[in-house]
Amino acid sequence: MGNISRLAAARRLAGLACLLAAAGAAAGPLSLKHLRGGVYVAEDDYYARENSAVYIGGDHVTVIGATWTPDTARELAERIGEVTDKPIREVINTNYHTDRAGGNAYWRSIGARIVATRQTADMMRAGWDEVVDFTRQGFPDYPKLAAVLPDRVFDGDFQLQGGKVRAMYLGPAHTQDGIFVYFPEEKALYGNCILKPQLGNLRYADMAHYSRTLDRLKAARLDFDTIIAGHQAPLHGPELIDHYQGLLRQAAELLRP
Ligand SMILES: [Zn+2]
Repeated sequence: MGNISRLAAARRLAGLACLLAAAGAAAGPLSLKHLRGGVYVAEDDYYARENSAVYIGGDHVTVIGATWTPDTARELAERIGEVTDKPIREVINTNYHTDRAGGNAYWRSIGARIVATRQTADMMRAGWDEVVDFTRQGFPDYPKLAAVLPDRVFDGDFQLQGGKVRAMYLGPAHTQDGIFVYFPEEKALYGNCILKPQLGNLRYADMAHYSRTLDRLKAARLDFDTIIAGHQAPLHGPELIDHYQGLLRQAAELLRP
């Protein structure tokens, strides 16, 4: 085979790999990696790649993001069991969507509380079935899950693990309700679906306020050097915020009539 035809064959293969990835055919494993201190990062390759976080505290474990389904949640619980025997007592739904709340039924079945802001709980009650339908448009094998609503609801920002896990709402962005979770001792921030290296899904985004919410995050002057992105590659520095604001500006220019 000449160089040119080899190149063409390689291109065809690369194209096929992209198609398979886009169809979600490469349902892969779920890994848990230590970041620092109590913070671990879960990289979940089912459906669209999502990253959740896990905090192993003094006497129990907090999971930040429920993962996609009860099955992926069980897999994450197994990974957690490999690094600690402490019980998983609470799971934060960082927004009302399937990648952050789909695993709720499993977590409840092992006795964990499902924690969220009131806004997230209300949006889940009203919008869960529609989000499941939307997820199934992209991933037809995503199960038709019934809503499992949070059972510990906070009116606004809240802290768990004695202040070592701090959930904060700074305004509408990728959804109306999404929160950030800050780990002050580890100087790390969980960016949820709001912060990631690529633009991602904007179907539910508030484009008028997204960037302003990120301005508020910068103005809060939290002390962190690591951002855990909610999708795609997980680990970034604080420059991910400016990077995402740049992507939003480009998207707004493209959408301008
Ligand atoms: Zn997401």
